[in-house]
Amino acid sequence: MTVLRFSGPVLPDGETRELYVVDGRVTYEKQAGSELAGSGWIVPGLVDAHNHLGLEDHGAVGDDEVERQAVLDRDTGVLLLRDCGSPADTRWVHEREDLPRLIRAGRHIARTKRYIRNYAHEVEPEDLTAYVAREARAGDGWVKLVGDWISRETGDLAPSFPEDAFAAAIAAAHEAGARVTAHCFGPDVLQGLLNAGIDCIEHGTGLAVDQVEQMAAAGVALVPTVMQTAKFPGFADAGREKFPDYAATMEDLYARRRETLMSAYEAGVALYVGSDGGGVARHGELAGEIEAMVDLGLPADYVLGAASWRARAWLGWNAGLDEGAPADFVVLDRNPLEDLSVLRTPARVVLRGRVVA
Ligand SMILES: [Zn+2]
Repeated sequence: MTVLRFSGPVLPDGETRELYVVDGRVTYEKQAGSELAGSGWIVPGLVDAHNHLGLEDHGAVGDDEVERQAVLDRDTGVLLLRDCGSPADTRWVHEREDLPRLIRAGRHIARTKRYIRNYAHEVEPEDLTAYVAREARAGDGWVKLVGDWISRETGDLAPSFPEDAFAAAIAAAHEAGARVTAHCFGPDVLQGLLNAGIDCIEHGTGLAVDQVEQMAAAGVALVPTVMQTAKFPGFADAGREKFPDYAATMEDLYARRRETLMSAYEAGVALYVGSDGGGVARHGELAGEIEAMVDLGLPADYVLGAASWRARAWLGWNAGLDEGAPADFVVLDRNPLEDLSVLRTPARVVLRGRVVA
């Protein structure tokens, strides 16, 4: 079998190399009779750290649509997905060599009638720990909580569960060997989750300065999903008539979202890049999220690392394309650090050593 060869600067260090693929792995040892399969900037496979496979506006979708979503991501160079909650059983994706690698969080766990219909297990506080333990066993090392959502009683964002219920559930997940993350828009839910040892915060628009310092010190990650938080004015408008307090909260969170994100970055919180594809956003849009994070003021090299080598390490994979690493990478015609738009049109996508796009 002919050995594939790729040539060009290999990120993150940017050293120009001849990269060979043997048995699905990277080697830099010269291989006789190799065939040049692509040249350009070589980037370790991209990571969408927050998306939803098998989820659409109205809930779970069938396997054909799961496959279509996964291919949309893959063809834009996203080769590792951290699924942040899905009601569809997508375990079969693990068996498919041609689809991205997948880390599933099982199904979201929310408070009764306090989330988008048909998405989550909706439970009361006394059942939270049991559901978290179950999803911890069923998933791939993560559990997803809906930390806060609009409460019809208070007419504003409110924590989904009391602090002690969150704390017991997080402890149960850790005991089962799973990490925990939570959807958090507002400020009130955060301190309890951080005190309980949560591992990651999604969205995080309500974070205060002392909280980002606590996160940095404890190694708690943040996936800010800035394409999603850009929709807050629309959420405010939609809710204003019935829930004016909620509308005001969403506008306030939106007004300070740049400052909040930059304070997390400056405090040294590990940020990752999540498109929130699936549900109300679409798959195949990680490049848009990378650009949106840079537009808010984050350095391009930081964001690209957060969408590639640093995210891979965080999720337990080889960070870079070292000797012997799985051959999951993207070849680009131009230097992405000079022109991020090239991420939208990869020249080659290589997954498990095979050219898939
Ligand atoms: Zn999401």
